[in-house]
Amino acid sequence: MRKSDDKAKSFKGLLKKITRSGRYMRLVKVPMPKGPALTIPVHIVRGFEPGPTLVAAAGEHGREVNGVASVDRICREIDPRQLTGTLIGVPAINPANINHCGFVEGEYGEHLWDSFVGWPGDVDGTPAERIAAALTREVMNDADAIINFHAWSWYSTSCAFTSPRNKQAMRLTRAFGLDFVCFDYTGYCKADETPLHPQHNMLTHYALGRGVPAMLVELRFQNWLSPESVDDGIRGIRNVMIAMGMLSGRVTRPAVQHEATEEELVHAPGEGMFIPVKALADTVHRGETLGYMLNLFTGKQTLVKSPCDGAVWLVSRVGKEIPAKPLDHVQPIAQRGDLLALIKHTPKAMKSS
Ligand SMILES: [Zn+2]
Repeated sequence: MRKSDDKAKSFKGLLKKITRSGRYMRLVKVPMPKGPALTIPVHIVRGFEPGPTLVAAAGEHGREVNGVASVDRICREIDPRQLTGTLIGVPAINPANINHCGFVEGEYGEHLWDSFVGWPGDVDGTPAERIAAALTREVMNDADAIINFHAWSWYSTSCAFTSPRNKQAMRLTRAFGLDFVCFDYTGYCKADETPLHPQHNMLTHYALGRGVPAMLVELRFQNWLSPESVDDGIRGIRNVMIAMGMLSGRVTRPAVQHEATEEELVHAPGEGMFIPVKALADTVHRGETLGYMLNLFTGKQTLVKSPCDGAVWLVSRVGKEIPAKPLDHVQPIAQRGDLLALIKHTPKAMKSS
């Protein structure tokens, strides 16, 4: 294949040795305080034409598997001949956490494996800090934009977060194309949020602090590969590449994209089964029916209404625990006061064109 040298840049990490167009895999080796080094696989898809470098990184937390599949699949599926610039995919920032289905425990203790607020890391630090340091050096510092995938539970909608202070990051975050975006979420987006460690912060914060557009994407579902969620991730990476001029095509977004701000909680007015009639990401108006409580013994219906104008962010987070099986571990039987829904104020819902 033709040489694809980005003359304007001098890369410092893995990219400095990859000058030709094509698909590559490299292992980033991370020495641990004790025992063997950890290896982190990194995909590099070097495009035919020179251009920007997008990093998509998932698998930081052990239960958050959908981003892993999205990043791994797109890096294997994208054709380098149709790509301008470079896509770098880190399917699992911490393969040990993913393999463990949570945080690695044992001699280090679980928090020592959580790099979430540990960026840019420390080569002599905890396992998590060493992972962050190695990936910062080999991958993140060469990025022109970063997507960091996380995931939360099935009853919440997916959302892409970034800082309101970086206009390019906001543009790419909208382009990712989820039903919700958020530019005002304490702890996720605010670059001046006080970090737990004075030198360290989330990957998104670290990148934004250096002026690099970055977003944190929370996909739906943990512990389960949801086809819907994996597709959202793949489409989102593609959309961002299109928005960065790396792929040709059109960004595909939902008809209405909600910009989430404050939220209102909706609690169960009594006992019974909560039957939603609204779905995640639906637009709702104040007083509109979200669903109803069904008294299973009398058949009585009690309507549950939205307290505000907005969009449904979370629904039916109630239930009696039943023996754990993925996805069906909660029965929607509510007690008085249980959380039924969460409505986000969406003053700036945007129609896509
Ligand atoms: Zn996470």
